[in-house]
Amino acid sequence: AGRGLRGLAADPACRAAFAQPDSLLRALLAPAARRYVAAATEDELLDRAATLRAKGYRISVEAVGEEITDPAEVEAVVTGYIGLVRRSPAPVQLGFDLSNVGMLLSTELALENTGRILDAAAEHGSDAIISMERSSFVDDVLGVFTKLAGDHRNVGITLQAHLHRTADDLPAVLATGAKIRLVKGVYAEPAEIALPRGSELDTRYLDLAARAIAGGARVALATHDAGLLAQAARTGVLAGAEEIEMLHGVRPELLRAHREQGHSCRVYLTYGENWWLHLLHRVAEHPPMAITALADVAEP
Ligand code: FAD
Repeated sequence: AGRGLRGLAADPACRAAFAQPDSLLRALLAPAARRYVAAATEDELLDRAATLRAKGYRISVEAVGEEITDPAEVEAVVTGYIGLVRRSPAPVQLGFDLSNVGMLLSTELALENTGRILDAAAEHGSDAIISMERSSFVDDVLGVFTKLAGDHRNVGITLQAHLHRTADDLPAVLATGAKIRLVKGVYAEPAEIALPRGSELDTRYLDLAARAIAGGARVALATHDAGLLAQAARTGVLAGAEEIEMLHGVRPELLRAHREQGHSCRVYLTYGENWWLHLLHRVAEHPPMAITALADVAEP
C-alpha cells in the first residue's frame, strides 16, 4: 500500500487533480490533512506554532514540497523560508531537503541557497536542520552540510540510523559540532544499504544516539516509537539527548506524555498549499493511518 500511495503522489494525473484549488479530491482530503499538516498558509502556521509554544513545545517547520528542478520554483522556496524566519515573532527551527533548495540543479546552488537561509535565520536567532534524503543523495547532502557547518553555527543535520554507512559518517559530523536529528529513515532501501525496521535497527539507533551524545553533540531523538523511547530512557540515552521530536499529528499523546515527564519536546510542523503530498506520504509510511484519515474525513 505504501509503494502505491507514493506512486500516487508522483503520478502526473493525481498531481494535476490535487493542483486544482477547487478539486473534489482536495475538498475530500482537506479535513484529514488538517491533523498531519499544520497549516495551508504562513499565517495559520504562525498561529499554530504560537499555540504549541504556549503549551511548552519547541517547534520545527517545513514547507511541504518535493524534489525541485525548476530554478524559479527553487528560488520561491528559498525566499519563502527567508520571509518566514523574518516574520516569525519567535525564533524557529527550519527543516528542509536540499533537493528543495537547488541540489538537483547543482550542489553549489544548494550551498549558496542554504547559506542565504541560514544567514537570515541567524539574524533572528533561528536555525535549520537539513533533512536526509534517499541513499543516492547522502554524499551530496553531507558534503553541502559540512561546508555550511564550517561557517554557520545554526545548521544541523538529520542522520538515518537504518543506513549502514551512518556509523562511518558520524565522526565527521561530530567534528562539525552541529546538532544532529536522529531518525530511523523513511526511504525504502535494499538490504546491502540499510536495515529494515526491527530490534537490530532499534539497537543501532540507540548506539548511534549514545555515540553522538558522548561525542558532545546536541541530539534530537526524532521517533514516534514508544518502545524505542522507553529503551532510550532505560539506557540513559534520553537523559543525554537534547529533545524528543515528532511529526505533527502522528503520536501527539506520546509526545505530551514525555513533555509532562519533563522532557524537552519538539513538534515538526509542515505547511503549504501542497499539504496533500505530505498526507499521501504519511499514509504511505504507515498504511493503518488511512483508517484514522478516513475517520477524520467523517468528522463534521
Ligand atoms: P517506526 O518503527 O516507523 O514507527 C513506530 C510506531 O510509530 C509505529 O508502529 C506507529 O505506531 C507509529 N508511527 C510511525 N509513523 C507513523 C505514521 N506516519 N502515522 C502514524 N503512526 C506512525 N526520515 C528521513 O529519511 N529523513 C529525514 O530527514 C527525516 N526527518 C524526520 C524528522 C522528524 C522530526 C521525524 C519525526 C521523522 C523524520 N523522518 C525522516 C522520518 C523517519 O525516518 C521515520 O520514517 C518516521 O519517523 C517513522 O519512524 P519511527 O521512528 O517513528 O518508527
